[in-house]
Amino acid sequence: MKSIQENCGLFGLYSSTECVQEIYQGIDFLQHRGQQYCGIATYEEGVHQVTHHGRVGDTFTQSNLDYLKGTFGIGHVSLLERQPVKWMSQLGEISVAFSGNIINSEELIHDIMSKGGSFLQGYDIEIISKIIMHEGDAVAGISALSEKVKGAYNLLFLTKNGIFVMRGPYGFRPLILGKGEGKYAVSSESRAFHNLDMEIVRDVLPGEIIHITDKGFTTVKKLESPRRAFCSFEWAYTASIDSVIDGLSVQKARNSLGSSLAQRDIDEGGIEADIVAPVPMSGCGHALGYHMRSKLNYQEVFLYNRYADRSYTQATQVAREKMAKRKLSVLHSAIEGYRIILCDDSIVRGTQIFNKVHDLKKAGAKEVHVRVACPPLMYPCDFGISTRSYEELCARQFIREGALNSMDHLRELETWIAKKIGADSVKFNSLDTFVAALGIPKEDLCLKCWDGLSPVR
Ligand code: SF4
Repeated sequence: MKSIQENCGLFGLYSSTECVQEIYQGIDFLQHRGQQYCGIATYEEGVHQVTHHGRVGDTFTQSNLDYLKGTFGIGHVSLLERQPVKWMSQLGEISVAFSGNIINSEELIHDIMSKGGSFLQGYDIEIISKIIMHEGDAVAGISALSEKVKGAYNLLFLTKNGIFVMRGPYGFRPLILGKGEGKYAVSSESRAFHNLDMEIVRDVLPGEIIHITDKGFTTVKKLESPRRAFCSFEWAYTASIDSVIDGLSVQKARNSLGSSLAQRDIDEGGIEADIVAPVPMSGCGHALGYHMRSKLNYQEVFLYNRYADRSYTQATQVAREKMAKRKLSVLHSAIEGYRIILCDDSIVRGTQIFNKVHDLKKAGAKEVHVRVACPPLMYPCDFGISTRSYEELCARQFIREGALNSMDHLRELETWIAKKIGADSVKFNSLDTFVAALGIPKEDLCLKCWDGLSPVR
């Protein structure tokens, strides 16, 4: 019954003209947040809805787009679940799209079933929808979520009266408002706005409920936010580098994380290498930051296959590893005899970075020194950002809880991982340098991947 954890993206638009083309483009620009399912719902005398298994550009047909009539609607891309979901309710026809993960879903399912409710699958989207519909009023229903639901969630709720938007009280996931001529939009990431000639208005605040109509944005309620817990992994990996999240450019954040890695090398005796290179694509910003701080030449050593999906957002480990192999090929002529600093965002199992180091050495690299933007991942995510488990985490085979608090332990772990992946050296940002590089107060970040502390009370 437990909901599938997923990574996903949301886009909603109210327009003075037909909205479907821009919603289609909006979710296409969020495709990096999940490639398995996509869907759009619009409103014109009822909900018109189409969902697909597959990517936006590959699945929506012209007749789908012609069917999706109306000037306002919502869209969704996902790793593991078809959304939006359409319901008949006291509010008329509605459609709901959700991003996140409910921690207490079993308890909520039990509670709803004990009162005579039933579920198709018991997915989080069903639980969320049933809680909202039970209240018979959109704002009251959305507000009820904060009393009952524990976890991370952002929500788009399409009704005949417009689109209701909610960012969960902790703000784990990004959600941002944008506008253009006669258009008011909401998106998981700002990149969709840049590419649709819209401008950023502001981030939706944690706990804020906004109503979008032809008049613009109205904050209809601000629910209590126990604390902020912005997912720090968004800046290091999940988000697109051209997005700005909660005021911090993803590009600047990655440059800063790379710069911090270079600074550590400088402080620990200097850098003896010929080039710095990324593991594309999410390593690019980190490698560029390393280059800017160290002045070491930046050079590509892998060719990125633009037709391959992100390995991390594949549904299974086998699919992830297959995709990782398809994704990168070595640029042989660029590396022979070189000592390479290789920058990546994170190490989960270590199998992918092992393959990359092996490929570079086989192609003639003299030395490969791996530099990793995130501290070693020690805990699974409970908030729907990824599907990694304890068993998958390479660092946990070596160290246990609390070990990241000591620089000596971190160095021991780095030596062990270097041996395991065949690299000449490995260095991570420590938790302190990671937080300092982001420049966001520690108490506003979720760092559960590393410290194991759940922000949810
Ligand atoms: S546990 Fe990690 S991936 Fe999940 S929300 Fe927190 S920082 Fe993000």
